[in-house]
Amino acid sequence: MSRISILDKDKCQPKKCNYVCMHYCPGVRMEEDTIVIDEKSKKPLISEELCSGCGICTNRCPFGAVSVINLPEALDEPIHRYGQNAFELFGLPTLKDGTVLGLLGQNGIGKSTIMRILSGELIPNLGNYDEEATWDNVIEYYKGSALQNYFKLLQAGEIKTIHKPQMVDQLSKVVKGNVKTLLTNVDERNKLDEIVDDLDLKNVLERDMQNLSGGELQRVAIAATVLREGDFYYFDEPTSWLDVRQRLNAVKVIRSLAEAGKSVLVIEHDLATLDAMSDNVHLLYGEPGGYGVVSGNKGVRVGINAYINGFLQEENVRIRKQPIEFSIRPPTPEDDGEVLSEYSDLKKEYDGFTLEAEAGKIYHDEIVTAFGSNGIGKTTFAKILAGVEKATEGDILEKVDIAYKPQYIESDFDGTAQEFLYANAPTYDSNIFNSEIG
Ligand code: SF4
Ligand code: SF4
Repeated sequence: MSRISILDKDKCQPKKCNYVCMHYCPGVRMEEDTIVIDEKSKKPLISEELCSGCGICTNRCPFGAVSVINLPEALDEPIHRYGQNAFELFGLPTLKDGTVLGLLGQNGIGKSTIMRILSGELIPNLGNYDEEATWDNVIEYYKGSALQNYFKLLQAGEIKTIHKPQMVDQLSKVVKGNVKTLLTNVDERNKLDEIVDDLDLKNVLERDMQNLSGGELQRVAIAATVLREGDFYYFDEPTSWLDVRQRLNAVKVIRSLAEAGKSVLVIEHDLATLDAMSDNVHLLYGEPGGYGVVSGNKGVRVGINAYINGFLQEENVRIRKQPIEFSIRPPTPEDDGEVLSEYSDLKKEYDGFTLEAEAGKIYHDEIVTAFGSNGIGKTTFAKILAGVEKATEGDILEKVDIAYKPQYIESDFDGTAQEFLYANAPTYDSNIFNSEIG
């Protein structure tokens, strides 16, 4: 069985641990170069040839920075590796004109690497991270397969790829100006009116990119991608920030590309949306941050069921110990338990928007869901309950301490994530935190 060693460079802090992994490594103790110190970064480099896989360094590292992973027997050579002791990817999906292909898998398993390779942003090094990667090597590697032709055309600049990035909330930092001007400038397919209608964008056309919400930015990003003329379209998480109705609109617009004969690849975590959008799927499995393997091409229903069951029949691979189970429980009686907080009829007025909410109670041990389309006032309602916003009329009758996680995350904290949690979460590092959150 072959194995790889992965070092999480962000977690590794040799100054604080004094290279405890090296001190305990049996190979180093026998004066072999199983672990050496990288001259440049001063972080450890593990030799996968010399490592016996004993796992002592993994257990001894106080920061969980190092892992030694046994790879499944049947894997060929990786298609890309980011460097020594870094993530590697096995396999690529197969693309087909006129279809939407979905990618499904955990974060950190290689989906974005695949997008970068297929869009030509990253030349895969076939695992030879010490040598310069070239398209010629990749074309030779895929000789006789559909991907050979794809990479040939990509290298020659004869196919155009269009990519919708994942982090649309960052878009307004790089794309300035008014939405209409932006979309008009990219309308190479002459479909501006149709796409604006389909994605319900009329009321944001005159607005500046800086003033759009996450859902609006997502819809503008989808529109800007679809309006451009390309051969292959890649959508990285196109429905995050969108409500149910907007998701269905996005599905329709993305599917219209396939109906026009284009090839489309989508990364999507929402199983219902993936089902509605894709013709086929590839599942990704492995160890997040360590290695990722692309499964064979599967029909969308078969693929989603395999993902839920945690077992890939054709590959004979178990990707999860337990299937995902959806438990059904009876609704909780409304007046059950002790009241935690209570609010009167509430009204909040903004310029052009009014939110009204009927009086209500929140009970101990209760989860209350605010459900509705984007822009309908859910965040305003939560902010009033949390005391972040003051209602124009009405009040919270029973004040309680509230922890509030905002929709848009921006950090002005000067320190590590651990320091932030120590400062803000009293139960951080407690037994319950470690067992429930990890
Ligand atoms: S891997 Fe862990 S034990 Fe080794 S130097 Fe980094 S932090 Fe220290
Ligand atoms: S797994 Fe064992 S042999 Fe390999 S680097 Fe870690 S301590 Fe050394």
